[in-house]
Amino acid sequence: MKVGVLALQGDVPEHWRALRGVVPEGDRILVRGPADLARTDALFLPGGESTTIARLIEDAGLWHPLALRLADGLPVLATCAGLILLAREIAPSASGRDPPTFGTVDITVRRNDYGAQRESFEGSVRVDRLPGGPFPGVFIRSPRILRVGHGASPLAWLGDQVVGVRAGPVWGLAFHPELSGDPRLHRQFLATVGRRR
Ligand code: GLN
Repeated sequence: MKVGVLALQGDVPEHWRALRGVVPEGDRILVRGPADLARTDALFLPGGESTTIARLIEDAGLWHPLALRLADGLPVLATCAGLILLAREIAPSASGRDPPTFGTVDITVRRNDYGAQRESFEGSVRVDRLPGGPFPGVFIRSPRILRVGHGASPLAWLGDQVVGVRAGPVWGLAFHPELSGDPRLHRQFLATVGRRR
């Protein structure tokens, strides 16, 4: 199984590092264009700036191929900006122009709703069926999940707030598992992909 990390902008090196020890080097792909995507069996969408990533996806000629792969059931773990790009709906906020989205995951998000960069925090996140107890969730200008529709189900909680969802083969997280030095979510996601295959 080849595991890709969308490598256009954002915390790409951090996802790459988090996959060390989870996926052999030769099975990891930095996805920068359609040929890379075509070889990818499971994809990580990093955090970063969703408007920038959306523009770079378009510039790389990846928008249409990625939309097709998503419709075809490509397993994706999307974090933060990545989650925004998969959301069905973005609620109005003061964040300026919102990016276009793929609409894959039936949720509504509001960007930057946990506060500005200087209000970044780490919180104890409960993840459904994750062995080893609570997960250290790093929140950096994270989107808030305002609505979880019928097509998605909650996967992770910060207190009583849903901060992660699952929609078939897609996991979306408002926080950054690639930044906490804890590979359990990367590993768990890929284990579910392996079972589906
Ligand atoms: N605030 C960013 C956005 O709206 C996401 C932040 C992140 O990925 N850490 O695109």
